[in-house]
Amino acid sequence: MPDIDIAIIGAGVVGLAIAYELSEDLDNIYLFEKNERYGLETSSRNSGVIHSGIYYPPKTLKSKLCLEGSRLLYEFCHENSIPHKKIGKIIVATNESDKINLIDLYKHGQELGVEGLELIDKTTLSNLEPNVKGICGILSNNTGIVDVHRLMDKLYQLSKARDVSFLFKMMLSKIKKIDDGFEITFDNKETTTTRYLINSAGLYSDKIAEMAGIDDEQYQLRFVKGSYFYYAKKSPVTRLIYPIPHADLEGLGIHATLDLDNRLRFGPDTEPVDEINYQIDISKKEVFYQMASRLINGLDKEYLCPDTTGIRPKLIGSGFKDFIIQEEKDRGLNGMINLIGIESPGLTCCLAIGRYVKNLIKYQEK
Ligand SMILES: Cc1cc2nc3c(=O)[nH]c(=O)nc-3n(C[C@H](O)[C@H](O)[C@H](O)COP(=O)(O)OP(=O)(O)OC[C@H]3O[C@@H](n4cnc5c(N)ncnc54)[C@H](O)[C@@H]3O)c2cc1C
Repeated sequence: MPDIDIAIIGAGVVGLAIAYELSEDLDNIYLFEKNERYGLETSSRNSGVIHSGIYYPPKTLKSKLCLEGSRLLYEFCHENSIPHKKIGKIIVATNESDKINLIDLYKHGQELGVEGLELIDKTTLSNLEPNVKGICGILSNNTGIVDVHRLMDKLYQLSKARDVSFLFKMMLSKIKKIDDGFEITFDNKETTTTRYLINSAGLYSDKIAEMAGIDDEQYQLRFVKGSYFYYAKKSPVTRLIYPIPHADLEGLGIHATLDLDNRLRFGPDTEPVDEINYQIDISKKEVFYQMASRLINGLDKEYLCPDTTGIRPKLIGSGFKDFIIQEEKDRGLNGMINLIGIESPGLTCCLAIGRYVKNLIKYQEK
């Protein structure tokens, strides 16, 4: 019999949410993280937005888990006093061709069942946000923001209270399939065996799948960096302001987000990179100013300051890519669950992903 029942690799918001959901009715769960604490990578380098789910194609995991995840996340934040705010978001059309796309996007959102969407004309837009440029917009009342650090703290504490064991500074380096599970070895040479192996390793999840012998091009990741600049002056807007997204959803276009202290930030942009390097290129300031000024009037360039960056783990290939959340029985890896390409809206989806993974395990147990 394996030493442990469930090993989760990676303590980002998704790994933590999986631990929290599984520990509700399963035991003997271990979470292994290579860093000295949880949430030090992509999960603390994002916009902190609870998305409504308007963008994604129907019947995809991104769409399904975003709709469910947003509802679960609001409930969780409410029940556990996690700072959050349903601040609302406006997607704006700045010209006539944008307007056609905006109306299509609105219809798409309605068909998906996204709640709280309103198509607004120029007058309503100006009344709501006098400093926003645009000829019309979609108001998404259900979009919000969350304190991601407090969310991760709570998921960690609640999982620990349900006896999940957290092991930090444990970098998984080798996986061997054994009869009733997996032998997993870490960079410090420690080895254990596990019945289930859940790969929630974010930017490195394709490498972990490779360690298990999965040599599938569809699992390969590429990195797309997103930089932010913050506005060191009182925010001229009170909601999140977005342009029409890129057609392939490579990014949502440089947009304006607010945090819970009302600090305005612009970003993230989309920059393909070969390596993980979080330094910001300050020469981007002019481009950010131009892009931000397409959405908002009267910004003062002097007050635009370099902020953080994050890196998206994107599946290779062009066009829309869905999350991969896959139990690997068909590859002879019974008990391995890979989560690959968990880019935006992964934060919004985290609890729904946790439940989805729980169902995959329960299905195996039947
Ligand atoms: C710029 C940007 C903005 C975003 N904005 C939003 C947003 O507003 N709303 C939203 O819903 N989503 C957003 N996202 C997406 C969201 O941040 C991610 O989907 C989410 O954080 C992914 O969480 P994760 O746990 O999968 O990954 P991570 O946070 O990357 O966690 C993975 C963990 O695995 C660990 N790990 C890796 N390899 C190993 C190993 N070999 N052994 C042990 N541990 C290992 C890492 O150290 C890391 O801690 C954004 C993403 C980016 C990049």
